[in-house]
Amino acid sequence: MKTSDASGAAAGRPADTGAASGRPAEANTATVSNFIRQAIDADLASQKLAGRTWAGKPGTADVQRAGQADPARIRTRFPPEPNGFLHIGHAKSICLNFELAADYGGRCHLRFDDTNPEKENQEYVDAIIDSVRWLGFDWTFPDGESNLYYASDYFETFYQIALKLIEAGHAYVDSQTGDEIRENRGTLTEPGRNSPFRDRSVEENLRLFREMRAGQHPDGSMVLRARIDMASPNINMRDPILYRVRKAHHHRTGDAWPIYPMYDYAHPLEDALERITHSLCTLEFEDHRPLYDWLLARVAETGMLDEPLPRQIEFARMNLTYTITSKRKLKALVDEGIVSGWDDPRMTTIAGLRRRGFPPAAIRLFCERAGISKASQLIEMAVLEQTVREVLDPEVDRLHVITDPIRLVIENMDPAERIICEAPRHPHHPERGVRRFELSRELWIEREDFAENPPKGFFRMTPGQMVRLRHGFVVRCTGVDRDANGEILQVRCEYLPDTRSGTPGADSVKVKGNIHWVSASDAVPVELRIFAPLFLDAQPDAGGRDPLENINPESKTVRTGYAEPLIREAKPEQQFQFERQGYYVADRFDHTADKPVFNRVTTLKDSFGKKKG
Ligand code: ATP
Ligand code: MG
Repeated sequence: MKTSDASGAAAGRPADTGAASGRPAEANTATVSNFIRQAIDADLASQKLAGRTWAGKPGTADVQRAGQADPARIRTRFPPEPNGFLHIGHAKSICLNFELAADYGGRCHLRFDDTNPEKENQEYVDAIIDSVRWLGFDWTFPDGESNLYYASDYFETFYQIALKLIEAGHAYVDSQTGDEIRENRGTLTEPGRNSPFRDRSVEENLRLFREMRAGQHPDGSMVLRARIDMASPNINMRDPILYRVRKAHHHRTGDAWPIYPMYDYAHPLEDALERITHSLCTLEFEDHRPLYDWLLARVAETGMLDEPLPRQIEFARMNLTYTITSKRKLKALVDEGIVSGWDDPRMTTIAGLRRRGFPPAAIRLFCERAGISKASQLIEMAVLEQTVREVLDPEVDRLHVITDPIRLVIENMDPAERIICEAPRHPHHPERGVRRFELSRELWIEREDFAENPPKGFFRMTPGQMVRLRHGFVVRCTGVDRDANGEILQVRCEYLPDTRSGTPGADSVKVKGNIHWVSASDAVPVELRIFAPLFLDAQPDAGGRDPLENINPESKTVRTGYAEPLIREAKPEQQFQFERQGYYVADRFDHTADKPVFNRVTTLKDSFGKKKG
């Protein structure tokens, strides 16, 4: 377990190891209990949450309500650090926090944990807000309460609380170097050693800490530490660092602060100041819980916090195969130009999944099914894709699109002839109406639907065989034309005019194959972007491996296909099922009616098993 360190590059976050709030309407089936719900139920039953008062958000009209009874039965929060875009692991935490709050008639806060200025910026703040909204959650309430918070709004309060802790003898300024602090911290088997500065007087500590705040001491020259116990078996309790000197520009507070609080100091205070009742976090914070509780109890003694104090509960991180759930490693993919940006459709960021065409309802359903656990979870990507299919199948219109075209000529049709064919937009929803497209002498079919020397059991287009052109006619393949090099130029056939789909003659000829097609007379060229996993290995960063060394060089293929004319109606972000091909979405940014651009969301069936064989 990594502990706080004086240089504090990571602001002391543990290393990754492994009134209804805006809850979307379609949720939820039966609620499954879990250890978090049991803990909340017990807290509600014990009455310890009774009589809670409203914090009243400082700086808003809401501050008027401070001290009134809190309308929320419980409060949770989702506390991202704005140092990157959110990923699928965060979606788990978002769904958990917002849905629990909604289920209990509580409220969930969106709080930016922006205490580490060098890595954070406004672009990330905006992207995170966008992602949480898109997932379907909201932090504003009919009574006007808006629960969007920034840790940086509490910097002055954090500072005042630190002064109180110093006065009460619970904190001191340590002038050891970073290396000395590390050396004296001890190990898992050896206790730490007290700093020679541990017994500075309250007056001296106050003076030095005020000087730190005034910018009179350089980076790394001193830190504020809690005075707890250098011999504690829990290294986090060995006088953890609360504040460091960092003369860095902050994207919200500018140059106002030359000192920044550490995660272990800021996070519990943020929770308590917002009257969070249940602070849900991932398991790597378990060893920090004694510190969380110690700090809040000491601050409460000074009268700076209201009881009841929040309670931290840990759950296992959610991990997914073919995915990395670390903002730092995702950032490396962006910085190295391996993907086009944080929202590249191959990225398992929420913005990437959105651009890939994964519906938010599918992500929520997936997170719900993943459940809550204390044991680390690795879920198959195939499970997420299956959930996407499940959500899209009943929802989206069907289309014919040829993704790898070869020309088919109907010899017994006049070049000027146009037959208008019809197909339902959705096979199970006739009320959605029909789509119409032409059939003419020249069509496009999928290259793989033709075989000159077919394998056994091939029921599609092959010389002499009959096959149905979906929503059209039965045709009999008569042969192929080749170019000078012997390459197939086009396939030839004759159609059987009495076999039109939807007419009594349709069944007069029995065929085993049924292929899709579009007519050269009305087809629309469409750019197709087809994705495979970004990584070659299911666990790209297992065992500390660098995921950059595990990149699939063929994760993106771009092709031109031909689509039936309805594609012109597609709006950016609209999904379709391209019949027999897969689910596709009109690209959020690049698609236009004149120049359609589609991303493949997923195949119609699981393709993960196949890839390895
Ligand atoms: P990263 O390493 O990607 O930066 P983090 O946990 O450091 O992740 P934060 O922005 O601090 O990122 O996380 C916000 C919240 O999301 C935290 O409560 C964190 O525990 C939770 N979270 C992050 N990753 C996962 C995950 N894979 N599964 C469940 N919850 C997660
Ligand atoms: Mg992190």
